[in-house]
Amino acid sequence: MSTETKTRIRKTRKRNPRLRPLPMRDGQVEGYVHSIETFGAVDGPGIRFVAFMQGCNMRCKFCHNPDTWKKNVGDKMTSDEVLNQALSYKDFWGDKGGITLSGGEILLQIEFATELFTKCHKLGISTCLDTCGQPFTRREPWFSQFNKLLDVTDIVLLDIKHINSAEHRKLTGYPNENILDLARYLSDIGKPMWVRQVLIPTITDNPKFLTETSDFVKTLHNVEKFEVLPYHTMGVHKYAEMGVKYRLDGIEPPSDEHVARAQRLLHCADYQGYRDWQPGDSTLEKPVS
Ligand code: SF4
Repeated sequence: MSTETKTRIRKTRKRNPRLRPLPMRDGQVEGYVHSIETFGAVDGPGIRFVAFMQGCNMRCKFCHNPDTWKKNVGDKMTSDEVLNQALSYKDFWGDKGGITLSGGEILLQIEFATELFTKCHKLGISTCLDTCGQPFTRREPWFSQFNKLLDVTDIVLLDIKHINSAEHRKLTGYPNENILDLARYLSDIGKPMWVRQVLIPTITDNPKFLTETSDFVKTLHNVEKFEVLPYHTMGVHKYAEMGVKYRLDGIEPPSDEHVARAQRLLHCADYQGYRDWQPGDSTLEKPVS
């Protein structure tokens, strides 16, 4: 091996000293994985390895992944198995990317998430939690477990399905008070967050509700990005396959004009805090301009 090659290897190792697969160990928490996306570009900053976990309590009428609803099914994987698979793609993550846990609802497998993200942080990998927030409670012992997870989470992606609790219940089967409380809590502790609003014609595409959502999000101090997710019908065929009635038949995706109007009403352009994430960088700072 030439001296030049040795020097290059030494430099590479110095930049990324601990990014190596972990050995398999007994006694790990297993998670139920629905599917994996190796080059996720929309589930958090940069390019990310995304594990979609199985199980969700909500039954959102617009859900395009009803096959994630059922609990305790899917591929059982240990945190090391997920991590080792993810590490094969680390060269594509750059400075911003990393690992995202999504769902289904990841907070239903909170111990698995905590174990995996703890290992990620030891390796210097950026961690992102994509949640609908429904399991959130300040009751113990759940709240302490959640705070342990937050300690090793760099950014949270939170969906607000509907700002009005009664409408939220109609849309998802659950009220939203605890979900808005989660948003407030994350704001209070300065945990960086992206907020997403699904835009559904006749349901959330409503100036009154969008204005109320905007007013709520403005009270938060940790929102780095605020996105509109236009409703789509790409998952409708899954309902037929599962023998489940699709309840939004006849609703078409919103037009570009309606998406633009919603972005204006929500003042999405005001949330420009997207910045270069460093693993473990969870403090609220002024965005880099
Ligand atoms: S929270 Fe997500 S996974 Fe669960 S039903 Fe709603 S859209 Fe589907």
